[in-house]
Amino acid sequence: MENEQKHLLIVEDETKLAKALAEGLGAEGYWVTTAVSGEEALFLLSRDIFNLMILDVMLPGRSGIEITKLLRDKNDKIPVLMLTARDSIDDRVIGLDTGADDYLTKPFAFAELLARIRVLLKRVNTESGVKLTFTDLEMDLITREVRRSDKKIDLTLREFEVLEYLLRHRNEVVSREMLARDVWKETSRFSPIDNVIDVHMARLRKKIDQNSSIQLITTIRGVGFSLKENMIKP
Ligand code: CA
Repeated sequence: MENEQKHLLIVEDETKLAKALAEGLGAEGYWVTTAVSGEEALFLLSRDIFNLMILDVMLPGRSGIEITKLLRDKNDKIPVLMLTARDSIDDRVIGLDTGADDYLTKPFAFAELLARIRVLLKRVNTESGVKLTFTDLEMDLITREVRRSDKKIDLTLREFEVLEYLLRHRNEVVSREMLARDVWKETSRFSPIDNVIDVHMARLRKKIDQNSSIQLITTIRGVGFSLKENMIKP
């Protein structure tokens, strides 16, 4: 799968530039999605898998730097290529400090952008591929391997999907309604599947937490579930 299409997320509120970049990168064979704000980008990142993000610093609402910090705090390692304004050395330094992988100063040559993207994608390929991690829990979305403290855990397809969803919503409350809608794709309000979800969650929790003193999957009574780290078994 060496020529597997790479999915790029462009976050840029200048629509003309965003459109030009999307068209140019599309013509180069990339699969491109655009967002006009950091908030929209975060939403898209929670829904879909991207190989790289091109992120403008100057955005309405939260800046590119704030967005990067938020992602890195969540241990999201998506490669970030930051676009900074000319002469704004501060942005570059802060951007890289925050966890951006590279930056380009506007205006830039398209060929330069392509070169940077290639380098970043290559670096990721040789490193870890597409991985979701949370403390000592690790999920590889390509090989579909799940490990905790480096020990492999076998999950069913559905358990994998539920865990992926929890990982993408770490430290948030995930309700049964969310799981029914987004994982089970259950749109009918007349076929409650709460029991099905609970059975899967019980099995998943056993597999993930039984050999560890730190419990990651928490039940929030009457509400749903949460992937977080603060529960220590007695
Ligand atoms: Ca901008």
